[in-house]
Amino acid sequence: MPPFDATVVERLKNAGAIIVGKTNMDEFGMGTTCEYSFIGPTKNPHDLTRVAGGSSGGSAATVASGELPISLGSDTGGSIRCPASFCGCIGLKPTYGAVSRYGLVAYANSLEQIGPLSNTISDLALVFDVIAGWDRRDSTTVNVQMNIKERIENVMERRKITLGIPKELSIPDDRIQKTLWSVIHSFEESGVDYREVSLPHIDYSLPSYYIIAMSEASSNLARFDGMRYGLRTEDTVWYETFSSVRGMGFGEEVKRRIVLGTFALSKGYQDRYYLKALKVRTVVKMEFERVLNEVDAIITPTMPCQAFKIGEIKDPLTMYLADVFTVPVNLAGLPSLSLPAPVRGLPIGVQLIGRPFSEGELMGIAMRGGWQ
Ligand code: GLN
Repeated sequence: MPPFDATVVERLKNAGAIIVGKTNMDEFGMGTTCEYSFIGPTKNPHDLTRVAGGSSGGSAATVASGELPISLGSDTGGSIRCPASFCGCIGLKPTYGAVSRYGLVAYANSLEQIGPLSNTISDLALVFDVIAGWDRRDSTTVNVQMNIKERIENVMERRKITLGIPKELSIPDDRIQKTLWSVIHSFEESGVDYREVSLPHIDYSLPSYYIIAMSEASSNLARFDGMRYGLRTEDTVWYETFSSVRGMGFGEEVKRRIVLGTFALSKGYQDRYYLKALKVRTVVKMEFERVLNEVDAIITPTMPCQAFKIGEIKDPLTMYLADVFTVPVNLAGLPSLSLPAPVRGLPIGVQLIGRPFSEGELMGIAMRGGWQ
């Protein structure tokens, strides 16, 4: 039970929104399917034998099933966009610093942002306008005018808009590949053209993301020790409390990440893993900057696959690999909008990645492409 409201919740309440409840998610946001939730997986509204995606699976399922018009999720490496893609709704991962993280339980704070999920761009714009903006309680927030409405109108009227397709993109699934191209062609019909771009080091994003995310997690989760936060046990000696609370309280995936993150940060390995990952992060960020000077947005599938069957993914590495298209965006701190492609049956998502604070432009481009 949170003892206070997060900034985003406070702002929504002040704007007259009704908070209905909390939604299911992977423990501490660590997962791609929502199966690492303490209370079990959220089912996909399109096929109840499949996962809703993760980590914000509950948020996407409530919106996709029509229970709610809008929900919030958090995206450290894809956790808004992946469930949006698997469930067939719209999800926005905002620019780093656009939305206050005050009140969000930290997983990897240099990567994550809170963002909205909805069925329409207009609902998304409405909520984003309310939650975005500087907050004195989060020193990473930036005071930038979002002007969502103006920016959308601007893009709707602009003649030339160009999307970039990274030539390094390798899409293993035929259906996803075909869907991406049909979306690109329908953009073309509304006067949005495309060209090939290059992000030569994009392939290194996934390993560096997992090193950085796990390192930050090992540090952030140190506070759940039974003294400051977390469970309480009957032990009387502090170090016994620490280990029994942490042994009992965390799930398997969270423990795995704490151990790996602690290893990556340990003396002797720090340079080899953590610092190297930070360098890769800088390179990826610079490559995005260069490309986004040439095109208005980059388009890729949101996920390399459609929703998995519940229980299908047996090993963590296979699950991590599914984040290949989403994590580079978080390393670079950019905004990304996941849109449901017009397909029958199980949903497929495509994402538009933009320049910092270009959320309005991304929504405008989506509207040009026919999303309402
Ligand atoms: N699947 C990614 C991970 O497990 C992303 C999670 C997230 O964005 N919270 O780290």
